[in-house]
Amino acid sequence: MKFAMLARNAELYSHQRIVAAARARGHEIDIVDTLKCYMNIASHRPEVRYKGRALEGYDAVIPRIGASITFYGLAVLRQFEMMGVYPLNESVAIGRSRDKLRCLQLLSRKGIGLPVTAFAHATSQPDDLIDMVGGTPLVIKLLEGTQGIGVVLAETRSSAKSMIEAFGGVEANILVQEFIKEAGGADIRALVIGGKVVAAMLRQGAPEEFRSNLHRGGKAQEVKITPEERSTAVRAAKTMGLNVCGVDMLRSNHGPVVMEVNSTPGLEGIELATGKDIAGMIIEFLEKSAAPNKTQTKGEG
Ligand code: ADP
Repeated sequence: MKFAMLARNAELYSHQRIVAAARARGHEIDIVDTLKCYMNIASHRPEVRYKGRALEGYDAVIPRIGASITFYGLAVLRQFEMMGVYPLNESVAIGRSRDKLRCLQLLSRKGIGLPVTAFAHATSQPDDLIDMVGGTPLVIKLLEGTQGIGVVLAETRSSAKSMIEAFGGVEANILVQEFIKEAGGADIRALVIGGKVVAAMLRQGAPEEFRSNLHRGGKAQEVKITPEERSTAVRAAKTMGLNVCGVDMLRSNHGPVVMEVNSTPGLEGIELATGKDIAGMIIEFLEKSAAPNKTQTKGEG
């Protein structure tokens, strides 16, 4: 088969692993710098052009679109979809997951376990917001944050109020969430491919740190997840319409709760923690699923 991987940096671990896995299985794969693609969107014969020529003959496109270029990247991916090229994850599904709030609203509609979460913009009612999530301690998250930056723990009502007011002062969109203390500074990342959990790791934050992000000094190890965690991850992936994703969950005393669904999961942490060939499994999924004018993930919204 012939694959195009939409990625800006060919050197990243995940990208190198996907390229190696595709070649090892006898496929051709080109790395296409997403921002260097251009296209005539009004043409009756849709095409994507790159370095002066049309990108043609691909069986599947593997989007590895960074958060900072979501808007342009999804437009390029959409164009491939209009050409009938099979996307590993569809543009509309990636768009849903990139918006944390939209993601939580969709998961909530399907009855998937979530931390009690409120959402506000520059509210003048901090007390009401705090009461809505059951009081303090609580977690406040900037909607645009990644890698744990913009996630803060407010232990008392007075600190929660002043943080909500401070974020309000800079016109930020915030999520206010019950603090899942019993998670003990750990979270679970379940990697879903084609409706199955293929690997799971537990990330434990550094001592005195409630955030488990590996970028913040967290440590990862393979974990055996419960059937309930497994089905929560699979349902979350299905709700978002993602063929491949990382579902981040906390172990709460009311069962697994989903924090986030990541449509472009990094492979390094999970491959090193579990010893599994996730890149190979992604390619295997494409071997089985990729066909012209066929998409697995048709979702609304
Ligand atoms: P980001 O998307 O920036 O990584 P997250 O929402 O995943 O932000 O939060 C970062 C980390 O903080 C999580 O991995 C988790 O360990 C911890 N965390 C986030 N929300 C909660 C919560 N409601 N209760 C307890 N811990 C949390």
